[in-house]
Amino acid sequence: MRVLVVEDETKTAEYLQQGLSESGYVVDRASNGVDALHLFNHNTYGLIILDVNLPSIDGWGVLESIRKTSRVRIMMLTGRGRLADKIKGLDAGADDYLVKPFEFPELLARVRSLLRRGDELIESNTLHVADLELDPGRHRAYRGKHRIDLTTKEFALLHLLMSRSGEVLTRSQIISLVWVMNFDCDTNVIDVSIRRLRAKIDDPFDSKLIHTLRGVGYVLEDRS
Ligand code: CA
Repeated sequence: MRVLVVEDETKTAEYLQQGLSESGYVVDRASNGVDALHLFNHNTYGLIILDVNLPSIDGWGVLESIRKTSRVRIMMLTGRGRLADKIKGLDAGADDYLVKPFEFPELLARVRSLLRRGDELIESNTLHVADLELDPGRHRAYRGKHRIDLTTKEFALLHLLMSRSGEVLTRSQIISLVWVMNFDCDTNVIDVSIRRLRAKIDDPFDSKLIHTLRGVGYVLEDRS
């Protein structure tokens, strides 16, 4: 497994390279966004560990470029642990988000979990609930004839809710199944993401499909 570490702080980059190499990964390093994209375009990586604050092109820009063509696993790394940054990173298609400083065993556990989960969440069959349709092949949703564009995480969240329609999912279940991480008590991320998803698939329409069970979680079902 080849891993690309994109980090401009030499100490952190060396620490990551050494730890990951000792754990059996082949590690390439880039210290700015331009070099990161160059390496990405010329190699095949199973995972990219991507710092947010980088010279030339920052982590957001690198993430955006990579996501245009690839669903490679990406773990964002940053000193900023604010909720808004996490949501921004996850919405932009990062698979996980780790706040510095971190303990290496935690990073390693997250890496293993990320690689183990792979793409198994996303099946290729089209899902239907009432007039809501989710087409994984084209990464698109429809309500009736209205096409709805979704971000990577909105798609994964909707896919989970639809594939388990009628079943109440707790916030921690949703976190572990969609975000592949342990946000500790940051379940606000789920509420914010559900609100955004609702704005797209429910708010413009008469019949609502996503329902809140106060203190429990969420369920997607047709109650009309
Ligand atoms: Ca940095």
